[in-house]
Parts: sequence; C-alpha cells; structure tokens
Amino acid sequence: MSTYLPPALLAGLRGLPGYNEEAFLQVHASGERVTSLRLNPAKVHNVAEAAQVLQSLSAAPVSPVPWSQYGYYLPQRPSFTLDPFFHAGAYYVQEASSMFLEHAIRQTCDLSQPLKVLDLCAAPGGKSTLLQALFSADSLLVSNEVIRARAGLLADNISRWGAQNVVVTNNDPRDMGRLPGFFDVLVVDAPCSGSGLFRRDPEAVEEWSPENVTLCSQRQQRILADAWPALKENGVLIYSTCSYSKEEDEAILDWLSTELEAENIPLQVPADWHIVTTRSDKRNCEGYRFYPDQVMGEGFFIACFRKTSADPVVSRKLKDTLPALSKKEQEKVFPWLNTTAEMFLMEHQGDAIILPASLAPAVAVLQQQLYLRKAGVKAGQLTAKDLVPDHQLAMSTLLAANIPQVALNKAQALQYLRKEDPAVPTGVKGWALMVYEQMPLGWAKILPNRINNYYPKELRILKEV
Ligand code: SAM
Repeated sequence: MSTYLPPALLAGLRGLPGYNEEAFLQVHASGERVTSLRLNPAKVHNVAEAAQVLQSLSAAPVSPVPWSQYGYYLPQRPSFTLDPFFHAGAYYVQEASSMFLEHAIRQTCDLSQPLKVLDLCAAPGGKSTLLQALFSADSLLVSNEVIRARAGLLADNISRWGAQNVVVTNNDPRDMGRLPGFFDVLVVDAPCSGSGLFRRDPEAVEEWSPENVTLCSQRQQRILADAWPALKENGVLIYSTCSYSKEEDEAILDWLSTELEAENIPLQVPADWHIVTTRSDKRNCEGYRFYPDQVMGEGFFIACFRKTSADPVVSRKLKDTLPALSKKEQEKVFPWLNTTAEMFLMEHQGDAIILPASLAPAVAVLQQQLYLRKAGVKAGQLTAKDLVPDHQLAMSTLLAANIPQVALNKAQALQYLRKEDPAVPTGVKGWALMVYEQMPLGWAKILPNRINNYYPKELRILKEV
C-alpha cells in the first residue's frame, strides 16, 4: 500500500530536526499498523489480571510501551468491539506516541499533591483516561470538549473508565476565562491538521492543505490564549498536536513564550527511545517530535511550559456547596457502595450523584461557570422506595462487593452487550451485576422467568461476529 503525501507538507519538513525523508516516505508506504492500549490500573489490579486481559487479546507476546507504565503494543489488531474486557473499561485503545504525555506529566507535576487538572480538548478521552490514572485520587480532572456530540462520547468513555474524580464539561475554551487561576495543570491536545496520523488514516491526506495548516495554527493560538487565564501562577501547560508542521509545533512554542508569560520546561528523554528533541527558532523552546520511522507509534509533538505570572483574579464570590441528599435518600444509596467515607452524595434532577467530598466545593464552583455534562458517578435514579442503579455505578470502582452477580462466559457476555437475553441460570433475584471474569459489564433485573437486560441501548454492540 502506498500513501501519497502532499509535496507542500514534505517541503515544510525538510531541515527539521530528525526528519529523514527517505525513511519517512518508506514508513508511510509500508502500510504497517501499530496497535497499542493502556490498561486501567483501577480495574486491572496486578500482573496476573494484566496477563489475563492481554492474553485474551493476543496469543503472541505483547511488549511494553517504553514511556508508559500501563501501555502495551499488541502484535496484531484484534476486534476490540468483541472483547468484553473493553466494555468493562479494563483498558483504553490509545496510539502509543501520545502516551508520552505520561512521561511529561511525571517530570513536571507533583503527583503526590491533590491538583486541579484541565484537559481542554479532551474527546474521545485518550489523554483524560491517562491523566486520571496518573494523578492522585484526591485530584480533580475536568475533561472538556467543545463539540457537543463528541462531549457525549467523551462522557461515555469516562464512565467506562469508572473514576469518580472526573467532571466532563462541554464548553468553548473562552468560557475557561471565567475561572481565573483555578487549575494547576492545563493540557491542550489541540485540534490540528492531523498529518501525524496519515500512515494510519491515508484518506485524511485529502483534507490536508497549507491553508488549513495556517488556520490550525491560528486556532491553536486562540485556544491557548482563551484558556491561559484559567491556569494559576506556576501552573504547568502541556501542549501537543498530531501534526508535523512547524507552524503548529515549534512556531506555537515561540508564540507561547513571546505572547504569554510561559517558560519552557525541558524534559529528560532517554536517547534509546528515539524521540527527537527540537528547538523553536526565536526563543529556543524545547519540544519533542515523534516520527513513525523512528518510534513505534504515529506522528506526535509535545512541549511543556510553566506560567510565570498570575492573572488578576476577579473577586466574585461563588457558592461552594452543592445540594446534598437527605439522610433518608442517602440510605437508599449506601448499600450499593463499598465506601461511604469521604464521599459526598448530591441530588441532581432526581438522580443521586457521588463525588469525593474533598472535591465537592470545586465542583460547586464549576457548576456555576461551565456546562457540566457529567460529574463524578451517577449512582442512579431515586424512587419513592429505593434506587434504580445507573450504568455509571456498574462501571464504577465504588461498588459494594456483596451486590449479587451473575457470571457470564464470553459468548454470554457478548449476548448481554448486544442487549439480548443471555439465558443463564442465575440463582439470584432483583438487581444483579452481569460480570465477565469478575469485571462488571452492567445491570440486569432478574425476574422469576426472565432477565431484564439494563445495558444502555446506545452502548450496545451492533457488529456481528
Ligand atoms: N485529547 C483527545 C484524546 O486524547 O482522546 C484528542 C483531542 S483531538 C486532537 C482535538 C479535540 O479538539 C477534538 O475533540 C475537537 O473536537 C476539539 N476541538 C475542535 N475545535 C476546537 C476548538 N475551537 N476549541 C477547542 N477544542 C476544539
């Protein structure tokens, strides 16, 4: 298979550090596909469980992604859709180069501290799930996506990941200006011209043009300028793209360093990872280029900055409390949870929402300034008598261990995920978790003669085997 690469793109890359045109063209013509995923440490707890998940995807040995603790390359691409572990949130399928965000975060942030982190351009959620697994449980991750439909997809992926310390918002970057100095860390994985993914997606080449690169570069500056006030003094900005173009990479570093009070943070990168260090023309800011002929991954660019100034804080007193569930309503939720300590139970339009108590004041502030698509974990809908559990609760790591379970084999799990009746003898009645290899997939209500499948319709598998 050959991939036509636009001459104007290649012309722009000549002379850039690490660019080797012959090898670059060859790797694009090869049609080689790299498949990688990142395990979810909240659901895959140890080496034995990791081996079980990985072996179910690949009989041949997998190899670790050098810059990611939970990242693995698979020798072939399996059907993730037909893997119940995927639907259980055991892993996220993510391009390997972009997992380098982990290395950047480890070198620039104090992971022992509770931090407020904004992932500004977050859908479908690759970087957000990585960030959630990295920061401490008492940190707050705000995962934002401006495009409404994509924010829905992001919310689904965050729910599947199962964490309670994430808020999904659906806002324009300029809305972040309402939260001056709120965040310790700002991740901008910017929309870009996408040349870094041409090997994987040759059709995308058609949409590339020098004019679009210019438009992307201008949009990247606008996004950064809009969100910048939300970062506190000494806060860390991580900027990344999947474009090779200098206008979207090194030139943006120069712009950040000139126009915003942003100080570049160089990273230590082992030479045997074959990631290319590059420097911007004017301000000598360091960034890191990933070329697919040199790393096992697609094209990627990343750089880190520290904010050296504080923006004036507009003193507007915001409420820092949320509507708590009454004691009586809380009693309906507690039996479903493995811990009630440190959790705040909130009422929202008849639903019970679980948040870490330490994060509730910050979520209250966010609620007044942004459009919250999802916050914490929805436990379920409160009825006069009890709770109708939500799918988010089934996916969450807060579930009580004594909830009735129905163990499914792979074929039954796929039937359940297609929203069919898996017709298994259950021995239980009422609400039960449908589990595959001990991992919850969702809810079912067990009646004397049948099982009511409560798997969300919009998530069901449509693909045939
Ligand atoms: N970080 C994501 C991940 O790792 O899964 C990928 C993000 S993708 C490179 C860029 C995102 O920016 C897209 O979801 C896109 O919808 C969003 N976007 C597009 N235009 C935008 C804008 N003007 N401001 C902010 N985000 C925008």
